[in-house]
Amino acid sequence: MTETPSLSPTGDPWLLTPGPLTTSPTVKAAMQHDFGSRDQNFIAINKRMRERLAAMVNGGDDYVCVPMQGSGTFAVEAMLGTMVPRDGKVLVLVNGAYGDRIVKICDYHGRAKVVQKCPENQPVSVTQLDQALSADSTITHVVAVHCETTTGILNPLKDISDVVKRNGRKLLIDAMSAFGAVPLEATEVTFDAVAASSNKCIEGTPGMGFCIARKDTLEGCAGNCPSLSLDLYDQWVAMEKNAQWRFTPPVQVIAAFDQALNEFEEEGGVAGRGARYADNCKILLDGMAELGFQSLLPAELQAPIIVTFLMPSDPRFDFNTFYDRLKDKGYVIYPGKLTVAETFRIGCIGRLGAKEMNEALAAIKHTLAEMGVDNCAPAAAA
Ligand SMILES: *Cc1c(COP(=O)(O)O)cnc(C)c1O
Repeated sequence: MTETPSLSPTGDPWLLTPGPLTTSPTVKAAMQHDFGSRDQNFIAINKRMRERLAAMVNGGDDYVCVPMQGSGTFAVEAMLGTMVPRDGKVLVLVNGAYGDRIVKICDYHGRAKVVQKCPENQPVSVTQLDQALSADSTITHVVAVHCETTTGILNPLKDISDVVKRNGRKLLIDAMSAFGAVPLEATEVTFDAVAASSNKCIEGTPGMGFCIARKDTLEGCAGNCPSLSLDLYDQWVAMEKNAQWRFTPPVQVIAAFDQALNEFEEEGGVAGRGARYADNCKILLDGMAELGFQSLLPAELQAPIIVTFLMPSDPRFDFNTFYDRLKDKGYVIYPGKLTVAETFRIGCIGRLGAKEMNEALAAIKHTLAEMGVDNCAPAAAA
């Protein structure tokens, strides 16, 4: 068979996944340097990175950015461990796997918790949250996931923050897959801390997470964290003192992230990046609908990050074959993570635009023809 795979400039397949993502050649090239951790160039890059990230939430001097080594989960765990005191009690809003992971972190840390669980295809309930907070004055913190990457659903963060604020509790946010593409501004949403990572919408390479926290909240967090390496308070105090990381920093990841932030700003920040992803998402939704696929979420709940599609019922559609053949054509998609339905996911984030999305759709169409699948409707609608 003669196929011309449409590979990225580095010859790698395009990643239509929730991360790690396709990065630009210039972001990758920024990693071609060694830095000692006390190197003045590196210290300047680190300072600039922290300032630029903190500025993204538009909270002026009230917010600081504390980076943390590791993947995004390390930053979420650091945020929870550091912000929630030993006698605190957490209410976790769950409508997917990342909410479940936050519950698990609370269990590891031995923190008291209440879990408010919602179906995966519905946004978390703000009414129920209000009732839970009114009924239990011992709840000190609420944790919410901005875009639940399990389905790609956008949770009502502004409404959640209004309820948390009115009830006088603290709000912690896992905005991992939305930060940089969906607005989150302190002037609009009242929150104490948000966690995200280097390798999602800011399009850096993986290896670092960060937490942007209210300075006055963080100041009261000494001694909370059950882990030394994940103690954000200690990381912050040390970094303010000598501008250095406590333990080996991922220097190349930070250099690449600095370049990713340059490219993010050149694209017009959150508005520009969000617009490209929204365009990618629309091309994907329209193109897949044309092929007969059904997406899980109604348009108003769909974040422009990743789309969940229901598995076609046609017995000739075998997901592993579909996945492998698409990968051979230069596109990596993602399996589903739902407990309620057979699904798969296609991401719209990373260094991809209209051209790549349209080419991915052409590759999908070609693959379906190879597999002899002519009806992509799911079981219920078939
Ligand atoms: C990606 C992601 C994380 C972090 O996952 P890692 O694999 O640790 O990087 C956390 N929460 C959400 C919502 C995510 O999308």
